[in-house]
Amino acid sequence: MRALQYRTIGQPPEVVEIDTPEPGPGQVRLKVTASGVCHSDEFIMSLPENEYIYGLPLTLGHEGAGVVDRVGEGVQYIEEGTPMAVYGPWGCGLCYECSSGRENYCRNAGKFGIAPPGLGAPGAMAEYLIVDSPRHLLPLGELDPVQNVSLTDAGLTPYHAIKGSLEKLPSGATAVVIGVGGLGHVAVQILRAMTAATVVALDIDEAKLNLATDVGAHYTFPSEPGAVDLVRDLTGGRGVDAVFDFVTIQATLDMGQAMVGSQGDQVLVGVGAGTLPVGLGATAAWETSIRAPYWGSRPELFEVLDLARGGGLNVHTEVFSLEEAPAAYEKLKNNQLLGRAVVVP
Ligand code: NAD
Ligand code: ZN
Repeated sequence: MRALQYRTIGQPPEVVEIDTPEPGPGQVRLKVTASGVCHSDEFIMSLPENEYIYGLPLTLGHEGAGVVDRVGEGVQYIEEGTPMAVYGPWGCGLCYECSSGRENYCRNAGKFGIAPPGLGAPGAMAEYLIVDSPRHLLPLGELDPVQNVSLTDAGLTPYHAIKGSLEKLPSGATAVVIGVGGLGHVAVQILRAMTAATVVALDIDEAKLNLATDVGAHYTFPSEPGAVDLVRDLTGGRGVDAVFDFVTIQATLDMGQAMVGSQGDQVLVGVGAGTLPVGLGATAAWETSIRAPYWGSRPELFEVLDLARGGGLNVHTEVFSLEEAPAAYEKLKNNQLLGRAVVVP
């Protein structure tokens, strides 16, 4: 089969021919229908050799969807031909966190070397994908796989981030989204669907700000220090109730911290290397909370797919073939994508 692999540190990923994998006991093989291109892939491919921990060669793709093609020994209750979305942050399934659906925080993943597809295990940018357990499959039903595959990360991650701040976002509240890319443009929609808050979007790129408006942001501003006063003015000087930062470089963290009002949340989703001081008097407002969440839980992915079924989420997609996938990553790197790039093998 053909697969998109990261093979050499510092080099672009390549389309290669590899053996089609067979599902082992308890595993499920999907014929892949779609796989999303995430900035985290670009991040890991930018790491120097001494910090790169994902194995080589690595078949990319941690956002995956496909049709059940063959099941391994002992797999029950799953029918061939069923369209599925893949829950990516695989855990052991046995610990307390996994038992409550929070496999993204599995306590045994490190110990047993369990890694998500595309981030250690072979990913979905290939004709076939081995899913380690039926537990990591959610029925797509009528949802179009190409339109919705990115909900498995670009939907689930902001959903989890926002759900943790819902009690801070009653009507009259203000929420800020920094970075309106793959995750951020879905975050705007989740905020509109789940809250009555005023939604403000910040980005450095005008086309992304226009997309933010199209998907429901009430206000957009260029992401620069002057945005702090513009946003604070919208709240009558009080500060905002939650900031969701999908960039998290020092400049956006500082900006976010200067915008947050007392008891507000600052949620750090990006993998930028910035950090924030915490402590009495260290923050501009009283009793702010800072969280740095990772991905989301299995039940939350069911909720995200249901939100999409109800019409509340539309991922803006640019579609690429597997052969064109290296070009999709090049566009991502140069910030030339709008919404999410989706690869269709
Ligand atoms: P993306 O490239 O699609 O979007 C990034 C957006 O940020 C772009 O619109 C870009 O114009 C904008 N941007 C860049 N610099 C900016 C600045 N200074 N101010 C405001 N906007 C700026 O990326 P994505 O796939 O949406 O991922 C976003 C981030 O989230 C990445 O860092 C990614 O690694 C991370 N991520 C984290 C998790 C998690 O579990 N915490 C999961 C997935 C992705
Ligand atoms: Zn991702």
